Amino acid sequence: MYKVIDTHCHLDELDDIDSVISKSQDAGVVALIACGLDYASNNVVLELASKYKNYVYAAIGVYPWTIPDASDNLDREIQFVADNIDSAVCVGEVGLDYKKQLVTRASKDQQKEVFAAMIDIAVKHDKPLSIHSRYAWKDCLALVSDAGATKAVFHWYTGPSSVLRGIVEGGYHLSACLAAEYHYEHKRAVKDMPLDHLLLETDTPVHYQDHQAMPADTVRVLNAVCELKELDHQQVADRTTANAKQLFGLSIA
Ligand SMILES: [Zn+2]
Repeated sequence: MYKVIDTHCHLDELDDIDSVISKSQDAGVVALIACGLDYASNNVVLELASKYKNYVYAAIGVYPWTIPDASDNLDREIQFVADNIDSAVCVGEVGLDYKKQLVTRASKDQQKEVFAAMIDIAVKHDKPLSIHSRYAWKDCLALVSDAGATKAVFHWYTGPSSVLRGIVEGGYHLSACLAAEYHYEHKRAVKDMPLDHLLLETDTPVHYQDHQAMPADTVRVLNAVCELKELDHQQVADRTTANAKQLFGLSIA
């Protein structure tokens, strides 16, 4: 059995978390990073991290899709992250999303303002960022690097090779998800990303084609990465797990 870490999942969105965790432990998943999206889910992931200490770690942040509904409370959303970041290992899930349905409700400028506030918290507290960058890959990279952030994970990356080069040059990380089994751009990114900056994730409970991801699927992601990079399982598991422990400062053996 290989030891792997699910570096990006939404554990708070699941029922029967005890059984999800025991299944993921049985599959070899040695830690999970549970990402919040807004005030409510940030509170839940912090509770989960204290309940399942040294197994579940929290990432807290204000997600771009949170902005429209939270527009009257954005300051509170941001302040909560600033006030509680010491109990989390990461600022996430944060970023920009230029999908039309969102941009009409939360402008690019408004999204950038919130993301900049998240980057600011990460830089001040020396925490990594877990970044959602759909159709906004270039702007995400520019904001992160211009702010002097040194630790960032581009999660489920499907952007162009030119931006990927900037991610590599900036010393940032990329996390592979189950899209590594079938999605052209994500496969190319995973293939091109050096192993020493690659992580594994599931983005649970997202549906990939006809399959709903669970943290135990981190092992399936490992398989897909090994196939794409033509490397053996032990090497990829060891390296990605070490990368995650180091980046997030996880206190597991
Ligand atoms: Zn996510």
